[in-house]
Amino acid sequence: MNAPTVLQPGLLLVLSAPSGAGKTTLAHRLLKETPDAVFSISVTTRRPRGKERDGVDYHFVDVATFQQKIEKGEFVEWAEVHSHFYGSLQSVVDQARARKSVAIFDIDVQGGQAIKRKHPDAVTVFVLPPSMEELERRLRDRQTDSDETIRRRMLAARSEMERGVALYDYIILNDDFERAYSELRSVVVAERCRRGRVDVSKLGLGGGG
Ligand code: 5GP
Repeated sequence: MNAPTVLQPGLLLVLSAPSGAGKTTLAHRLLKETPDAVFSISVTTRRPRGKERDGVDYHFVDVATFQQKIEKGEFVEWAEVHSHFYGSLQSVVDQARARKSVAIFDIDVQGGQAIKRKHPDAVTVFVLPPSMEELERRLRDRQTDSDETIRRRMLAARSEMERGVALYDYIILNDDFERAYSELRSVVVAERCRRGRVDVSKLGLGGGG
C-alpha cells in the first residue's frame, strides 16, 4: 500500500474475530504492507504460547503489574478473557493520533466496543472463519490447548461472532485469505479518504481565498 498523502489522517483500526479465524495473519499482512501502521501490543497476564515473544506478540506481565497499570490509567480498555486479563495501551492511541498513523488493535468485541465508545472515529472490523467446523479444526491444529480449552473457546467463539456481526462496522469472511486481505485493505484505504477524517484545512478552500 502506498504511503498516505498529506491529507490523510491516522486511523484506529480494531480487528476482532474468534481465535482461529485468521485475524492475526491478516493483521500482520496489513502491517507489512502499510508503511505507517503500528500493531498495538496488548498487555496480558496469560503465559506465552508456542513461539510468542514478550514485547512482540504481547507484553506478558503478572496480575500485580497488570493491576498497577489499571490504577495508573495506562489502558484505553482492558478486559478479562478466558480467565486472563488483557489490556490495550492508551499510549498506542496517543502515538497514532500524534503521528497520524494506523494503529491496529487485535482485540475482542468487548474491547473493540470500549475503544469505539471512547473514540467514535475508530473503525471496527470483524473477521469470520469459513465455518464453525473449520474453526474447530484450526483450534485443534494448534495443539497447544487441551480439549476442555478448545470446547470453551468454541462456545466463546459463537457468542463473540453473534456480537461482532451485530455491532461492528465491517464484516469480512475469511474463507479465502487473499480476498479477505483485499477487503480489509479496501476498508483501510476507504476510511482514510472519509469526509470528516481527511484534513482539508491544508487546501486553503473556503473563505474566498
Ligand atoms: P489469545 O489469548 O488467544 O491471544 O487472545 C484471546 C482473546 O483476547 C482474543 O479474542 C484476543 O483478540 C483478545 N485480546 C487480546 N488482547 C486484548 C486486549 O488488549 N483487550 C481485549 N479486550 N482483548 C484482547
